[in-house]
Amino acid sequence: MSIITPTDWSSHFADRTDRMRGSAIRELLKLLDTPEVISFAGGIPANEALPAHEVAEACNRILETNAVTALQYGPTEGYNPLREQIVEMYRARGVPATIDNVLIITGSQQGLDLVGKTLINEDDTVLIESPTYTGALLAWLPYAPNFLAVPMDDGGIVLEDANLTGRAKLLYLLPNFQNPTGISLTAERRPKAIEFAQQHQLLIVEDDPYRELRYSGEALPALVEVEAAMLGSQWDSAGRVIHLGTFSKTLAPGLRVGWMLASSTAIKMFTRAKQAADLHTSTLSMMIADDLMRHKTLDKNIPALRDLYRERRDAILEALAVSVGSRGTWTRPDGGLFVWMTLPGETDTPGLLAEGLKKNVAFVPGDAFYFDGRGTDALRLNFSANPPNVIHEGIARLGSLIAERQDSVKVKQA
Ligand code: PMP
Repeated sequence: MSIITPTDWSSHFADRTDRMRGSAIRELLKLLDTPEVISFAGGIPANEALPAHEVAEACNRILETNAVTALQYGPTEGYNPLREQIVEMYRARGVPATIDNVLIITGSQQGLDLVGKTLINEDDTVLIESPTYTGALLAWLPYAPNFLAVPMDDGGIVLEDANLTGRAKLLYLLPNFQNPTGISLTAERRPKAIEFAQQHQLLIVEDDPYRELRYSGEALPALVEVEAAMLGSQWDSAGRVIHLGTFSKTLAPGLRVGWMLASSTAIKMFTRAKQAADLHTSTLSMMIADDLMRHKTLDKNIPALRDLYRERRDAILEALAVSVGSRGTWTRPDGGLFVWMTLPGETDTPGLLAEGLKKNVAFVPGDAFYFDGRGTDALRLNFSANPPNVIHEGIARLGSLIAERQDSVKVKQA
């Protein structure tokens, strides 16, 4: 028998794994299991808002009446009654969609993965908001695109400032309550983004998990709706928006059900890519989402979530004013799950996190939302997971830490 040696996995991993990064946020999510830590890190719904009882009832209905469909293999495109309900939702908002425009996916994260697989060649230019959602960077980095960060202001991405010299393939936008900043793209800039895509012949990936979670201000149309209003019956042939939606924030992320809405030609290719990834999304999960829509659980859940999270958003804004005050600046989002805070003079929010963990408070350092190491003066704070009293306590811990740090810098400089 030959000598047994340790397997050198690194010599076997494909070259593209050099570009696969782990998510700092998913590592931080593990902290949520430690009760002493007040975590503002995850982008997660409130545990108490998950519709456990309603899901149990839906499961019973499904398994009593339609168990074979639920438990057997199904088509890659998804469970048709759910696809039809999603079509209806967008038709009511003016998109002339049919079932061929909808692919059910295993969470909108899978949509980002399918976009990478089917659209991104090495060195393709991908325009992103700056900062942007880490999960998209992680999904696309292995395809070695050339990311072009476009600046943002309080009204979202400033496309006039895009330093675009050659052709670009994709523009990735989170128009509603962006992750990580909570900023929304203004109504005036939405049609301009569609015109930009037409002018530069690029595609827009519209990632829209938070649109229903609006606590103040007026609802704005999704980019795909703005595009449909411009193109009318030409939308399927001339549309350039790939729209991603999900039930993760309005029902439950554990279901892992989302959708892609796009031109039928693109949907066919995404379906082919999905087939190789997982054959299809869990039919039981799709049927639960379908049932909860039909039984109006979704319609009831959304206003309840808005009330719950509005209170928490107000609590974090108040706590920041009290405990951080002039030592930082932060966004005041109309919805979503996040506030983005910038600390003047700070250069190491990962280091601030390490100190925060000693004081039992966690957040995501800003560099997780850039591909090039920027963001070390900023951090992302989630406000949906904790009740107001816990938010106040956690922000007080963070505030005293920031004060200690800023004061010690001043002492060193003196
Ligand atoms: N896109 C954005 C902007 C997100 O914030 C998230 C979840 N944090 C996702 C996509 C992925 O969500 P899911 O796969 O659960 O639908």
